Amino acid sequence: MTFEELNLNPAIVQAVAACGYTTPTPIQEQAIPLVMAGNDLIATAQTGTGKTAAFILPALERLTKPSVLPGKGPRILVLTPTRELAGQVMDAARLYGRGMKLRCGSILGGMPYREQLRLLSSPVDIIVATPGRMLDHLERGSVRLDRLEVLILDEADRMLDMGFSEDMEKIVSRAPGNRQTLMFTATMENSVLKLAEKMLRNPLRIELAVRTSAHTLIEQRLHVADNLHHKKELLRHLISDHNLTRAIIFSATKRDADDLARELTKSGHQAAALHGDMNQMARNKTIERMRRGAIRLLVATDVAARGLDVNGISHVINFDLPRFAEDYVHRIGRTGRAGATGVAISFVSNSELSYLERIERFIGKRLPEQNIEGLAPLSVLRRVSSGNGARKPGGPSRFGKPGAGKSQGKSWGSSAKPGTSRDGQAKSWDKPAPRPAGGSRSADRRDPVIEYRSRRPKPQPQA
Ligand code: AMP
Repeated sequence: MTFEELNLNPAIVQAVAACGYTTPTPIQEQAIPLVMAGNDLIATAQTGTGKTAAFILPALERLTKPSVLPGKGPRILVLTPTRELAGQVMDAARLYGRGMKLRCGSILGGMPYREQLRLLSSPVDIIVATPGRMLDHLERGSVRLDRLEVLILDEADRMLDMGFSEDMEKIVSRAPGNRQTLMFTATMENSVLKLAEKMLRNPLRIELAVRTSAHTLIEQRLHVADNLHHKKELLRHLISDHNLTRAIIFSATKRDADDLARELTKSGHQAAALHGDMNQMARNKTIERMRRGAIRLLVATDVAARGLDVNGISHVINFDLPRFAEDYVHRIGRTGRAGATGVAISFVSNSELSYLERIERFIGKRLPEQNIEGLAPLSVLRRVSSGNGARKPGGPSRFGKPGAGKSQGKSWGSSAKPGTSRDGQAKSWDKPAPRPAGGSRSADRRDPVIEYRSRRPKPQPQA
C-alpha cells in the first residue's frame, strides 16, 4: 500500500514523501482508513511504530476542510503524558502539515503562560498539551472546546500511570459529545480499558504485536542488588570482563549518568555520559567517539539513547530498571544488532520490584537471576506473581468490531522516560572491592527481604 492509496490530501502525501517515507507502517495502514471514516479507535502501538503519523495524518486531512463552527478553540487536541512527547507530536504535525496553512501550538506545564494565552487568543487548529496545564486553561476560561472535532489520547496508559486520570476526565467532560476520540496505548491494561469505556464511543480496536520476542540473539539476565553501593560493585565486576567490548549503561537520571561516567573515567575507563541536558553537538560528538571505539562505556538515559544506532555494543547494563516496560525492550535492542549476539544485564533493587514485574509481564518471560561469586545479594527476591507466560494482547471483546483486525507490527524504536530513584552511597572505582571469603558478604548490609508484588509507581504529575 502507498500513502496515495490512503486517499490523503495531496499536500499531506507530498509532505510525507518529503520525509522519505515510501510505505505506511502497519499501524498507519490500519488506523488511517478507520480514522478517516470517523470511527473512534483504541490502538495498542508502541513508540517507534509510526503511531504519531497514524493519528496526525487523518487529523490533518480533516483540517483541509474549514470548520463549520464558530469560536477559537482547537479543532484537534492531542493529550500526551510528557512535555518531551508533546514536543515530538507537535514537530510531527508541523512536518506533515507543512503544505497547509495551520495554526497550532503546545500547552505545556512548566512553560510561561503568556505565549500560551497568545496562542489561545485566536482560532487554533491543533493543540498538543499535557493534561494538567490544559485543564488549567479550561478552568480559567482561556480556552473552550466547543469546536473540538478530534481528541487524541497519546500514550494513554502512561497518562494513567502519571496520575492524570482525573484531569483527563475533566477535560473530556468539556468536549462535545459528537467528537471523535482516538486512544493510543502501549499496553491494554484494565485501567486503560475502563478509561476507553468512559471516553470512546463504539471504538474499533487495533492491536499490534509487541516486538518483544525478536531479541533472540540477546542473552538477558538479572542481578539482585542490595543498594547503590552493591550495584556499583556489580558493575565494577562486569566491566572488568574483556568480552565486554562496548557497553551502554542505563541510569535513571541525567545526574546519575554524569556521576557514574565521571567515576568510571576517574578509575581509568573510557567512559562518557549521554543525556538530554547535553546540547546536540556534544551528544553527536559523544556518539561519534563511541562509534570510533574511543568510548567503551556509555552511561545514558533513555531519552538520550533513543534511536542510538551504534553497532558492536556487546552489553547493555540496566544500572537502574526503566519504569516503563517498553523502554526495557528498547534499551536491550541497542545490543544484538545486525545479527550479532549481545548481553543485557539488569540490576534490580528493593525499590524497583514493581518495574521488574511489569517488564517480565511485558516480555512474557522471567529474567533469570544470576549471582556473582562474592557479590551475591543479601536481600532475597521473593516473587509473588509468576511473570511467566506470553503477554496476552487484547481484552474484553466488547471493543472488537468487524473490520478492526489484528496485525503483526514492526517496532522501529522507542521513547523514553527516566526511571527510579536510588539508595546507598557511592564508592571509588579504582580498587576492586574486597570480597569476603566464602562468597558471602558482611551481614551489616542486610536489607529487608525484597517483596515482589504488583505496585504501580506514582511519579509526580507534570502540570
Ligand atoms: P513514532 O512511532 O510515531 O514515534 O515514529 C517513529 C519513527 O518512524 C519517527 O522517527 C518517524 O519519523 C518514522 N516514521 C513514521 N512513519 C514512517 C513511515 N511510513 N516510513 C518510515 N518512517 C516512518
